[in-house]
Order: sequence, then C-alpha cells, then structure tokens
Amino acid sequence: MEIFLGIDVGSTTSKAVLIDNNEKIISYSVVRNSYDLAQSGAKALNMALNRCGISKSRISYAVSTGYGRRIINFQNEAFPEIICHAIGTIKIVPTCRTIIDIGGQDSKIIELDEKGNCKKFQMNDKCAAGTGRYLDKLATEILHVGVEQLGEISLKSKNPLALSAQCTVFAESEIISYLSHGEKIEDIIAGMHRSLVRRVLDIGKSAFIKFEKDIVFTGGVAKNIGVVAALEQSLGQKIIVPTEPQLTAALGAALIAKRNFYLKTK
Ligand code: ADP
Repeated sequence: MEIFLGIDVGSTTSKAVLIDNNEKIISYSVVRNSYDLAQSGAKALNMALNRCGISKSRISYAVSTGYGRRIINFQNEAFPEIICHAIGTIKIVPTCRTIIDIGGQDSKIIELDEKGNCKKFQMNDKCAAGTGRYLDKLATEILHVGVEQLGEISLKSKNPLALSAQCTVFAESEIISYLSHGEKIEDIIAGMHRSLVRRVLDIGKSAFIKFEKDIVFTGGVAKNIGVVAALEQSLGQKIIVPTEPQLTAALGAALIAKRNFYLKTK
C-alpha cells in the first residue's frame, strides 16, 4: 500500500493528512503553530504518523501547501492553497460551488465551476478584520472568553449589537464601551460574528463572487456555530461544514501527492 502526505502549514495551525492509494484518510493532525513554522509542520507530520503507527519512510510522496509550504523540508512539491482547498473540498462535498474559508490570519472565497475547477477567488490577508484573528483578539483580550465558547454563547443573543467590521482596533473600543454600559456578552459576541461575516462577504462581493450553492464553510472559524448561523442568516441559505473543516487544503495536497506520484512513476 502506498501512503501519501498532504501538509498545510498555515499562519496559525499546521495540518497533516495521510491517505492511501484508495484516497482513504488513514490519519490526520491539527497542531497550533509556534513561532517556528518548520518545527510546527514537522510536529503535525509526526503526530499524524504516530496516530496510525506508520513511519515517515513509508510516505511515497508529499505535497505541502499554505503560508509556510516552503519553510518545511520534507515535501516533494509545494502547491498554492487555493488549488488544494478546491480539490480537498470537492472530494468531501462534490456538489460544492462556493468555498468560504476563514482561517487564523486570512480569509478566502473561492468560486468553482460544475467540474470543481476554480473559476475565481478573492483573499483577504492584509487585515485582521474578516479573519479568525478578529475573534481571537476580541474574545481573549477584551472579553476573556475562549474562542471555543463563542458559538454557544452567541446563540443566546436576542439583540446582536452593531460593531465595526472594518477594523479590529475600532471594534475593541466599541466593545469596551458596550461593556461599560452593561450590555450583555452574548449580544456583543453575536455582533462580532455578524461583523466578521459582513466583512468576509463584502470581500467576495468585491470580486463579483456569486455565492452559488452548495456553499461549504472551511477553516478553523467554521468550528464556531455562531459564525455558521450568522453566515446562513446573511446568505439566506444553509451552508455545509465538513466534520473537520481545517483539513480541506491538507487533504487536497494529499490527493495531488497521489496523482503526481503516479504521473511521475508511470
Ligand atoms: P490557518 O489555516 O490560517 O493557520 P485555521 O484554518 O486552522 O488557520 O484557523 C485558525 C482559526 O480558527 C483561529 O482563529 C482559531 O481561533 C479558530 N478556531 C479553531 N478552533 C476553533 C473552535 N473550536 N471554535 C472556534 N474557533 C476556532
């Protein structure tokens, strides 16, 4: 049996996916990055290998992707994230036409054609607003709430508050002012989710993305059920969240690894 590795070294987390020749996922990992991206990528790989008891030498071909895809040194090839996201997401949801990916420090919207090819995409990696960083910073530094709790808390809100979608620093002062006026934390958090969603959808609209269904929401922020609800409300339709939304680009990279291994060894 051949083993293929896809590794996605993002700005916030590193993800590794191991697949076999039947494209079945045999192991995976998600690790939070340290300042040393090369070490974080290696840690993700080792964790995935340890989980299935397979040694590194068994990997026939490896493809890396993500922000740090060239920082690690155990890949055969490096591929851009957009292609890997598209291939990985289509594998999980073949009917997908739009991918909304919100990661730790960037967000992207990808439009696919009926064959799953990337038609266009738009990315925001210049500003914390519209990325996971917006929620991370406001939740942990101002509200002192873990990001994992944001979704549940926000669903209690009956009156989401208006917040700046353009700037994390402005949103910070608005939240401090809301807190001093005794506003409810659930209303503040629901407002944060709405602002994040507004910003991300505006990025897509600026590139004339049509948001056709099926819409698949990926990246770490897709684990936040409050953001999922805010997205569904804004788009007026159901969105699909894969069981492990952080893994799609790594899975796409693993599928490319398999394809290229057979192309090169033919
Ligand atoms: P990247 O690929 O850009 O490195 P990820 O797609 O892994 O990043 O997303 C990281 C983001 O996901 C962070 O902002 C983090 O707070 C958020 N996140 C991760 N897990 C959860 C969770 N369980 N609930 C809410 N947010 C989460």
